[in-house]
Amino acid sequence: MLHDVIIHKTVPEIKTIALIAHDNRKRDLLSWVMQHREVLKAHKLVGTGTTGSLISEKCKLPVKRFLSGPLGGDQQIGAEVCTGQIDLIIFFWDPLTSQPHDPDVKALLRLSVLYNVPTACNVSTADFMISSKFFHEEFTKAIIDFANRKPPVYVD
Ligand code: PGA
Repeated sequence: MLHDVIIHKTVPEIKTIALIAHDNRKRDLLSWVMQHREVLKAHKLVGTGTTGSLISEKCKLPVKRFLSGPLGGDQQIGAEVCTGQIDLIIFFWDPLTSQPHDPDVKALLRLSVLYNVPTACNVSTADFMISSKFFHEEFTKAIIDFANRKPPVYVD
């Protein structure tokens, strides 16, 4: 990392927010979204299949839906993170139940760190996030300049 070049990416005022919750945490996410519905409706929402359907149905908000998490939805969202299309992630994963797609969950969380995407995994953090002025404004963040990343130097 020390030799990587850092660039700055502008995150727009209108954000694309990924919403994901494991089954035991869907109630928490639904109630958080309902509580912040008026703020969230100004942004673009995406989500994994079941979470996305529940939010559109119960909160009456448009949500672009990917596949269900266990069927690859987390990986689809991870791919969008890599191409800079996800600005914020609210991911209420279940700390008490093992998931069949645990490697996908871990992969998405890894990418969120790699691409410096603000990620909330519990209600308190999501509350901090939505209270931030950056939730409502453009901001810049540092990421590694992957396009100009130098290959490792091999010495014979
Ligand atoms: P779901 O997926 O929204 O389709 O339930 C969430 C997940 O398990 O990652």
